[in-house]
Amino acid sequence: MSTPGSTPGSTPGSTPGGDDHAGPAPAADPQPAGHQPGYTVVLLDAALDPVAPARPIVEVADPFLTGWLGPHWRRADPPFLLLLPYPSDDTGIGGDPPLAYASDAIGYIQVRVHIAGHWHYRHPHTAVEVLGPGVRAWVQALDPAERRRVRAFRIDGPGIERLLHIPAPVPLGVAEVTPYARGERPGFRIRPIPPAPPPARRLADLGAAPPPPGFAEAALHTGFVKVVMEPVVAAELERDRPFSDQVEQGGFLVGEVFADADAPETFIVLVRAAVPAEQVGASFLHFTFTGDSFDAIKARLATEHQGAVLLGWYHTHLFPATDAMGLSSIDYRLHFTTFRIPWQVAGLVNLDGPHRVLRWYVRRGEDMLLCHHQTRGARP
Ligand SMILES: [Zn+2]
Repeated sequence: MSTPGSTPGSTPGSTPGGDDHAGPAPAADPQPAGHQPGYTVVLLDAALDPVAPARPIVEVADPFLTGWLGPHWRRADPPFLLLLPYPSDDTGIGGDPPLAYASDAIGYIQVRVHIAGHWHYRHPHTAVEVLGPGVRAWVQALDPAERRRVRAFRIDGPGIERLLHIPAPVPLGVAEVTPYARGERPGFRIRPIPPAPPPARRLADLGAAPPPPGFAEAALHTGFVKVVMEPVVAAELERDRPFSDQVEQGGFLVGEVFADADAPETFIVLVRAAVPAEQVGASFLHFTFTGDSFDAIKARLATEHQGAVLLGWYHTHLFPATDAMGLSSIDYRLHFTTFRIPWQVAGLVNLDGPHRVLRWYVRRGEDMLLCHHQTRGARP
């Protein structure tokens, strides 16, 4: 990931350096909260000319914000959208017609909901995720002639023009790749080596109790993986380890995995340590791993955590937990691309002042579902 460019990439009203201690909103703010003059979204035709009058960015973001956060975001202190000059893989909206995102230098938007001195939410989303639903609804409401012309959308506003990027042209040359003929094959073979099946254990063998009846059947829950933490891990994540209240932090989970001898096709992960990642850069954006952090954890697995495996990852969110709000779409993407073994888990620590909520997730299909977790030896 690159370092920040010279463009601050923040909406007007943000102060440099960190304005996380903004006080309560002024009592008589003449503007509705979140009014952010100057930043608009423009629909573009194939020549990147505007199709319809530009609309304020907040108006276009409204369907996403209301769907994700509920209506209370409207009471937030501005600025609540920070435009972040980092590219993302999310470069357009599918559907009919597909729409390209033409401000792709602004890959992410940090959504911040700070009301009366208290954080309700602060997390980045891709710009396409934030603007997509509003742009789609807007295009649907155009008259048919205009609608047919729309090919792309972009953000306009102070500083943005310097970040504009012209989408890559369609290549003129093509390379033809022909498949092997029947019976023909390359001169080498690659086969994945299947991991050895984990040894079977019972929760009781680990000083742990079965999840409460019905846990796995509840919405967005799963019994596929049960998480058992060593007491030191639980104490650190839930209480003792100092975490920043300014940047998300996280790292790797190491320990052991077992097939649950009492429940076929399900697993028990025993978390022995939560090792902070040695990450650099971009950590202000959202928690992310670097190649170096993987090298470091591999070395530690070979030395001080011998016999342990990489169980997954954990990270912090800097706002209170709600049932509806667990891992973000960025977290899903990180998990799906990086932690591909089915039983690998994601630990999430929501920080709300001194109050913390620890939750665990595992992939099932295209979702991350909540796992039961407990501390080893703490059975009732
Ligand atoms: Zn996250």
